[in-house]
Amino acid sequence: MDKGIGKGGAAGASALLVLALVLVVAVAFGAYVYLAEGGPKPAEPAEVPAETAAETAAGGRAGWVTDGRVLRADMDDPGMWLAHGRTHEEQRFSPLAGIHRGNVAGLGVAWLKDLGTYHPVEATPLVVDGVMYFTAPWNVAYAVDAATGAELWSFDPGVPGETARAACCGVISRGLAVYEGRVHLATLDGRLLALDAGTGSKLWEVDTVIDRSREYTITGAPRAAAGKVFIGNGGAEYGVRGYVTAYDAATGEQAWRFFTVPGDPSLGFESEAMAVAAETWSGGAWWEIGGGGTVWNAIVYDPDFDAVYLGVGNGSPWTRAIRSPGGGDNLYLASIVAVDAATGEYRWHYQTVPGDNWDYTAVQDMALADLAVDGVERKVLMQAPKNGFFYVIDRSDGTLLRAHPYATVTWATRVDMETGRPVENPDTAYADAPQWILPGPGGGHNWQAMSWDAGRGLMYLGAHDLPFLYAMPEEYRETGVYKRRPGAWNTALEFGRLNQMIEATENPPEGKGYLIAFDPLTGETRWRVEQPLGWNGGVLGTAGGLVFQGDAQGQVAAYDADTGELLWRHQTHTSILAPPITYAVDGEQHVAIMTGAGKAANPASATWKYGSHGRLIVFKLGGDAMLPVPPLRDLTIPELPPITASAEDIDRGDLLYNDHCRSCHGLGAKSPGAIPDLRLMTLDTHGAFQAIVLGGTKRDAGMASFADLLDAQDVERIRQYVITRAQRWREEQAAAAAL
Ligand code: CA
Repeated sequence: MDKGIGKGGAAGASALLVLALVLVVAVAFGAYVYLAEGGPKPAEPAEVPAETAAETAAGGRAGWVTDGRVLRADMDDPGMWLAHGRTHEEQRFSPLAGIHRGNVAGLGVAWLKDLGTYHPVEATPLVVDGVMYFTAPWNVAYAVDAATGAELWSFDPGVPGETARAACCGVISRGLAVYEGRVHLATLDGRLLALDAGTGSKLWEVDTVIDRSREYTITGAPRAAAGKVFIGNGGAEYGVRGYVTAYDAATGEQAWRFFTVPGDPSLGFESEAMAVAAETWSGGAWWEIGGGGTVWNAIVYDPDFDAVYLGVGNGSPWTRAIRSPGGGDNLYLASIVAVDAATGEYRWHYQTVPGDNWDYTAVQDMALADLAVDGVERKVLMQAPKNGFFYVIDRSDGTLLRAHPYATVTWATRVDMETGRPVENPDTAYADAPQWILPGPGGGHNWQAMSWDAGRGLMYLGAHDLPFLYAMPEEYRETGVYKRRPGAWNTALEFGRLNQMIEATENPPEGKGYLIAFDPLTGETRWRVEQPLGWNGGVLGTAGGLVFQGDAQGQVAAYDADTGELLWRHQTHTSILAPPITYAVDGEQHVAIMTGAGKAANPASATWKYGSHGRLIVFKLGGDAMLPVPPLRDLTIPELPPITASAEDIDRGDLLYNDHCRSCHGLGAKSPGAIPDLRLMTLDTHGAFQAIVLGGTKRDAGMASFADLLDAQDVERIRQYVITRAQRWREEQAAAAAL
């Protein structure tokens, strides 16, 4: 399948020469034809070098990643990062050892690129033949020279600002795919595109969304392999039905679609897999809310079995008593589903959380490996999904081999290895009374990348204990009925009163994070780095005996792979979620990481202190570029308008704010530092509040109108509530200053 273009050797060189000649002739001829026809002027010379530079850097056709090249990456291209998880196996462990324990202290900034955004940056850059490809928020794609950062091209797919309202967790993109000369880009508003990897010009575009009346969004990176591009979507918090679609990579023609949960049974089922799944849902019209099961992150291609593994998300709504009141496992929620890569036909599944009740997605990254388990060589899949257990699964048939806890787990006591099912802890059931449970919806580990060190038999991953107060929604408790609200979160969990309930809790449990080196076979944590904050970045292990990670405090750090000892760190002054990658240009190893995190509500986080600064930062030994230090955020509360509403109206405003505004502007009106903190609104903004919230005057920035959910009176109640929160913060600031 590998056309061999762009590879070394005499044959490759002569093929390149011919290709170069053909290009020169084609360009010259094209220009001649333009002039002869008296048509539009030939392209400005400035546009030509962009294409030529990328081609030159690639030493052939830009972005020429093939299945064969990915398979041989360790041998032929150890200095590249060809696919989302480096190779199809997604182990995210680099064979490069130029930077090692003995010299890592000499790492400095080689170059950086400011992305000019405060939205969370979660993407994995790819490096192919000296060109780095990556996505920024709003799915803006870039190709830059991997040695210098010089921009070769950029492409803005024009995602409408109002799409942000339909994205549960921010304007996020986790990456793109480069394949056979194309860059495959998926957009927040649900489109999949192919761009020319050499020029960034669009080759094709398809709409992946089956129902535009529902809040489907794409935040995950498309994967390309075996001639296809695979893409899922998110939206289960709003009420959608999950599915994954495969498209022909060259043409964009749809190859297959796999739904992850059954639709309305009266309409018939798309496949046998859906008929089987429907048997495990009962008692409710789940298809009206959607069912959930979105595949918003991991989609892993397995060349050994020509299979694709889909990491399936949580139920929609979250609570099973409302979603499927008659009980049942609710397949294929919170499952890993193996399908045939060519046809999309179901092969096997393993469900991590039967009858998911906690937003416990199994969408987290999956790493494929060959591993001796109990003396038998197995082809395994490893995943640390949200639910706190680390799974080792035989990918030939889905057999569960191991399930050890990797974080603090209170919802279940263990996984029964006979049945493969978790044993739920009755003490944390929340159907009748609110419960603090671990993990929370943030998971014991989330989408942040992990790294498999085959030599040491260790998975390096960022884990966290972020407890959450689960409670049935007030409306349901009072009426026994829960109705989907189009355009709003439909988790069927109490969010409107959540802040009040937390503030009423004496000593609410605090979150924390840790970087761990975990043995998936024994369940032993070989070493562990305690971190003051939860919600840190992805992880990279290298053959240099190093483990790299960025954290919520803004540090990029390197740890000793044997001990976890801190060997190097660099302060970036912005919280980090994205995973580091490493690559080599002209034999020189680099480490790249994207910075910026939206949700870092703890005052100890860098984003809280400095705001969120979306950047791509590249390090190398002896790098001496300056990283500008942003100013501290100005947290001085401006003059506040008077409170004119009744206590009852402010209480209503509290409920409405925490229902509809919280997911972006922060619980209890405490913004995490990236999205504007409404307590810092000026009198002018207070004056424009109705126009913003109902009129949608800031829709292009991501703040669409809420006129479908709120009326003018409600908006005023929300504003009055925000004023009370600002007053309270001012008092807290004064008290702290007096200490
Ligand atoms: Ca979710």
